[in-house]
Amino acid sequence: MKYLLLTTLAVLTVSCNSAQTTTKSAEIKNLTRIDYANTITSEDLSKHLYIFASDDMEGRMTGAEGQKKAAAYLKDFYIAEGIKAPLEDGDYYQEIPADYFKRMRKAKDSENVVAFIKGSEKPDEIIVLSAHYDHVGMDDDGNVYNGADDDGSGTVGMLEIAQAFQMAAKNGHGPKRSILFLHVTGEEIGLYGSKFYTENPIFPLENTVCNLNTDMIGRISPEKVENPNYIYLIGSDRLSQELHDVSEAVNKEYINLEIDYTFNDKNDPNRFYYRSDHYNFAKNNIPIIFYFNGVHEDYHKITDTADKIDYDLLAKRVQLIFQTTWEIANREGRITADKL
Ligand SMILES: [Zn+2]
Repeated sequence: MKYLLLTTLAVLTVSCNSAQTTTKSAEIKNLTRIDYANTITSEDLSKHLYIFASDDMEGRMTGAEGQKKAAAYLKDFYIAEGIKAPLEDGDYYQEIPADYFKRMRKAKDSENVVAFIKGSEKPDEIIVLSAHYDHVGMDDDGNVYNGADDDGSGTVGMLEIAQAFQMAAKNGHGPKRSILFLHVTGEEIGLYGSKFYTENPIFPLENTVCNLNTDMIGRISPEKVENPNYIYLIGSDRLSQELHDVSEAVNKEYINLEIDYTFNDKNDPNRFYYRSDHYNFAKNNIPIIFYFNGVHEDYHKITDTADKIDYDLLAKRVQLIFQTTWEIANREGRITADKL
């Protein structure tokens, strides 16, 4: 009796499991780009940023101990997610020797952190997502410049984008073109990490479709407090009308942020187009978009901390970058620099 009962139970369990598996695989098949975008959440971004912009990272000064910790955090994330390194021997660090950082006194070796998802149909065409993970360190009194917005926000955004694409790839919905996740060093002291990458590219620059760069996307600038559902875009139409049009269409269809082009004006006195890492790609005629929230009262102050980030807005902006990347990676034709 006992034996029989066990057998019956065993059969029930098996059939139950197989039914579940069938439903599950059907569910996975039906997952859409919106479902993957929705895995990018304010909770996950906040969890990462409170660690990444903590005092423990000592302001992530290029070459300093705190920055090494920050680099390890990124690398460990990619390893845990099963996202591979693009360099030989599975190396996630693109080493940059100290003497490359010419404007820095007592410079030390530093590294770009890189991870890679290979395209399923056009693996040689590379989309580069970038965000700088260095910041300005500590002051003489030991106060930490946490750089939560600058550029912790863009950095943790890239982690979430990578995770979403990796999940899609595992389910057979991987990007057709390849995506390189490029966490650059040395930005605050002169855009060195991105300069080094474009002079020593892991993948040929002629195969680099575009660069989407994120530098400060977690805050609301004072002039936008009344209408905070916004993002500034810079550079999208400078080299490629096509990139600009794709970016606009994706936002309209999936996200609906107000896209503000104020700082894209060629006569804008702030000259932001030249002031972050995308510029090293643009000067090589690679189409770029720079995502930016504008400056605010805590910009480059010790008060740029994780508690001041608007995480829901950050998630929405990161989802915009994810959806734009998805479109560029999966559309039929490659984005071209049609304005050259
Ligand atoms: Zn920055």
